[in-house]
Amino acid sequence: MDKLLFGISGLPIGSGLKHLNYASGINYVKSIGLDAMELLFVRNVNVTDKNKHIILKTKLDNDFYLSAHGSHYINLNADESEKQEQSMERIVKAMEGLSKVKGRSLIFHPGFYLKDSKEEAYDTIKENLLKLPYKGIDYRLETTGKGSQFGTLEELVSLCKEVNSCKLCIDFSHIHARGNGNLKGYDDFAKILQYVLYNLGRSALDDLHIHMGGINYNEKGEKNHLPLLESDFNYTACLEAIKDFNVRGCIILEGPLVEKDALLLKNTYKRL
Ligand SMILES: [Zn+2]
Repeated sequence: MDKLLFGISGLPIGSGLKHLNYASGINYVKSIGLDAMELLFVRNVNVTDKNKHIILKTKLDNDFYLSAHGSHYINLNADESEKQEQSMERIVKAMEGLSKVKGRSLIFHPGFYLKDSKEEAYDTIKENLLKLPYKGIDYRLETTGKGSQFGTLEELVSLCKEVNSCKLCIDFSHIHARGNGNLKGYDDFAKILQYVLYNLGRSALDDLHIHMGGINYNEKGEKNHLPLLESDFNYTACLEAIKDFNVRGCIILEGPLVEKDALLLKNTYKRL
């Protein structure tokens, strides 16, 4: 990617006068100066044969970037192999839905450790990821916000090295919450990007998918999203590190203020 795009997760709030759908939402988001949207397939794949044409046309007309967030019911390390199969099916269905509108990245949380050791969970998840069909959409493994969830930065970077179809989604707020507020200043963010650069090479920072937003957490990790200004998440330091490492790709804002906070990120970045 030659740029760093800023976008939102799900539909924008808009003016509140009219109910927005994906197509009208894309038009609106573009009109206020943002470039990307993460479609929410968390409950079901809501790109259908009925709406796919209008979404694709609007995306192309606006030179807009689309990703999607996969189901919350994915556990590639489930105890029952049947549940692992169902998780794989959900990932493939989401990938197919996103490809109908020429999206680029499917983001998901790979699973939970349950009673397994970290190494056992890693191996099982890797075996399953290796079976996913690659059809031009990158599977983006997202750093997770709770200690019970598989998905530390180190685990996911290692999987990205071993599985060709997988790339990284760094959710900085999740890392912050998982570490009970450990990302305090510039160096904490720079360390993460340096780790990615060292292990995955420059190409990973040239096309990185990023989530951030205000977040509420306790010692167990993430609780809920918050407006940026009501949280201790240091988005300015995070953006400074992102700028210094010349990261390109896409930043998706997650949180209740949606496009308002996405614009706050974009405008802060531009001023740095
Ligand atoms: Zn997520």
